[in-house]
Amino acid sequence: MADAPATPAPLELPGYAHVYSGKVRDLYAPVDAATGTARPDQLLLVASDRISAFDFVLETPVPDKGRVLTQMSLWWFDQLADIVPNHVVSTEVPDAVQGRAVLVRRLEMLPVECVARAYLTGGGLREYRADGHVSGIRLPEGLVDGSRFPEPIFTPSTKAPQGEHDEPMSYGAVEALVGARLAARARDLTTRILSRGNEIGAQRGILIADTKVEFGVEGGELVLADEVLTPDSSRFWPADQWEPGHPQPSFDKEFVREWLLSPASGWDKASGAAPPPLPEEVLERTRAKYVEAYERLTGRSL
Ligand code: ATP
Ligand code: MG
Repeated sequence: MADAPATPAPLELPGYAHVYSGKVRDLYAPVDAATGTARPDQLLLVASDRISAFDFVLETPVPDKGRVLTQMSLWWFDQLADIVPNHVVSTEVPDAVQGRAVLVRRLEMLPVECVARAYLTGGGLREYRADGHVSGIRLPEGLVDGSRFPEPIFTPSTKAPQGEHDEPMSYGAVEALVGARLAARARDLTTRILSRGNEIGAQRGILIADTKVEFGVEGGELVLADEVLTPDSSRFWPADQWEPGHPQPSFDKEFVREWLLSPASGWDKASGAAPPPLPEEVLERTRAKYVEAYERLTGRSL
């Protein structure tokens, strides 16, 4: 994130200086009242209602999405605390962003998107169909869309600069980039996070097909940063409808993706053009999916 140009702040937050805006989050640095300078060691991570699909930020925001992402990540950080430390400092944030922001330790980020898959679908399915491997890992024969792996696999991808697409990365490339020790640690933690997610999800009727996490490095150790096990970073499937052999219904952006790829949207993914705005109905159903995923998993109401 550090080297991209800062885009205009969408919000004026007294006491904070805008640092960066990603596809979904706006990052601010707390300003030290005594010196008037931005603190280098902390960030206010504000989740907006923006939704991205196919690496495009769509024109239409999804109401309450920022709150769902932030509250769900906070809940998961607690559920994962015995596996991995996280970047959270405090949830005391300005009123204007209450509920959708968190104060975190500003970390040097591992330049890898750490992906783990428990079920075969999406990009993994395409790789498997080509040669029976996913991310260089040989898998049993006869798997179909939605098949469960014997255990979760680590399928990292590059962290592409803004506007570019993440590409699958071999494990060897991760080792070359961050060293063998941190690569092994990232692989271990990412698959354990997904396993824990599925242990908890199973009690609440949700399968987590795959997920992406980001780690920061602090004192030579990995710290879980960004967001975790949200519908933006993961594929959530209703367990009672799981049936390998075809695409699964889902709680996540697959719904938006499916509409964009359908004739109804009139959008040609291959054209490189920005996708059209989401119709009211798709927007409302997407919002409902995000809220339902949050409420089912956490047992809390939003
Ligand atoms: P990009 O950075 O390519 O725009 P993105 O669209 O996924 O990715 P967002 O999720 O909108 O970005 O923004 C979050 C940004 O904040 C990411 O770049 C992420 O790496 C970074 N980030 C998250 N947690 C931390 C942290 N504790 N310290 C430093 N950076 C962090
Ligand atoms: Mg992100």
